[in-house]
Amino acid sequence: GYYNHREALPARRFVGGKVPLGLKRKGLRIVVTGGAGFVGSHLVDRLLARGDSVIVVDNFFTGKKENVMHHFGNPNFELIRHDVVEPLLLEVDQIYHLACPASPVHYKFNPIKTIKTNVVGTLNMLGLAKRVGARFLLTSTSEVYGDPLQHPQVETYWGNVNPIGVRSCYDEGKRTAETLAMDYHRGAHVEVRIARIFNTYGPRMCIDDGRVVSNFVAQALRKEPMTVYGDGKQTRSFQYVSDLVEGLMRLMEGEHVGPFNLGNPGEFTMLELAKVVQETIEPNARIEFRPNTEDDPHKRKPDITKAKELLGWEPKISLRQGLPLMVSDFRKRISGDHSSSDA
Ligand code: NAD
Ligand code: UDP
Ligand code: UDP
Repeated sequence: GYYNHREALPARRFVGGKVPLGLKRKGLRIVVTGGAGFVGSHLVDRLLARGDSVIVVDNFFTGKKENVMHHFGNPNFELIRHDVVEPLLLEVDQIYHLACPASPVHYKFNPIKTIKTNVVGTLNMLGLAKRVGARFLLTSTSEVYGDPLQHPQVETYWGNVNPIGVRSCYDEGKRTAETLAMDYHRGAHVEVRIARIFNTYGPRMCIDDGRVVSNFVAQALRKEPMTVYGDGKQTRSFQYVSDLVEGLMRLMEGEHVGPFNLGNPGEFTMLELAKVVQETIEPNARIEFRPNTEDDPHKRKPDITKAKELLGWEPKISLRQGLPLMVSDFRKRISGDHSSSDA
């Protein structure tokens, strides 16, 4: 190996959380890759609030300084501009590995970069975890199920994925990332955790990232028609970001490798979603049909039995409760004030 293992400092200072008598429990040192993005920045807020030290590693492809700027000046917070495709040396206890564009518009923009991020980026972060003995959590995706032939999707389902399509850089990239995580777990005894995240929304999403919830909300606020792709009968299950962050933290702290589905089982067609957006923002918002994109999965809904049983986790916020929280953030940003939300 490139790095000498014997030079590595044992990062997990008090194994099993057992603190020697007379010593106060120190916070953990945690890396969040992709921490300047949508999900990552909400996770960083929770980890810092809990008293841990957080290092955000981000190349700012889709992430923004504005999302974490409210922590500048906090001695427990560090921000590093770094691309995970390059090796990285740090001493930490836990790694939340989120770095990867999540919106189809972003991940199709440079598919080779996307698959490099998923494969080489994940390899590097697993190499780091191995070197310092850190626990490693991968944010995988419901896209590993592809256009599923099983409904709802259970973790034991192997999926129906096109290996040579325009979404493959993401789907197959994440599938390889899961393989790498399991091989480092079995072969190098890295403590890994795998989350399969279903569609998530909330404040700080990029306004123009092309995902359906952000598109409909921004369109309704700008008094433009909501663009429904295809016949609008395809389904998705939408999870509010705070529910996801709670699930990720429980998974990291728990004893189970996974994979775990983390999503809200409430299933909506795109036409139903448009109706909820009308109810929340503008009853007269119009709908416009557009041709659908290639390889668009027809339906998606998580079976979350496993996470309920083993992590004691389930989402608490319904779409009708969560949407208004996102709308007030989008309203502020769209009306010209481009400062970050503090939601
Ligand atoms: P996001 O695009 O807002 O955040 C991704 C972050 O990673 C950004 O800050 C971006 O700049 C950074 N990044 C991308 N490539 C990088 C690289 N090579 N090196 C360093 N940083 C890099 O997306 P998000 O919604 O916050 O998603 C976070 C994670 O969750 C991703 O791994 C995504 O695949 C996964 N996920 C998200 C959803 C969802 O609905 N939001 C669903 C399934 C999985
Ligand atoms: N790596 C890293 N930081 C570290 C340790 C490793 O970025 O602290 C990278 C390293 O450059 C390599 C990858 O992680 O590309 C896998 O590391 P590992 O030690 O498992 O494999 P090897 O270096 O032996 O090929
Ligand atoms: N979609 C839509 N209008 C839009 C954007 C997306 O109807 O303006 C549809 C898209 O075709 C897909 C669903 O909404 O069926 C979810 O798309 P998104 O890009 O949000 O996430 P995906 O689950 O496909 O990764």
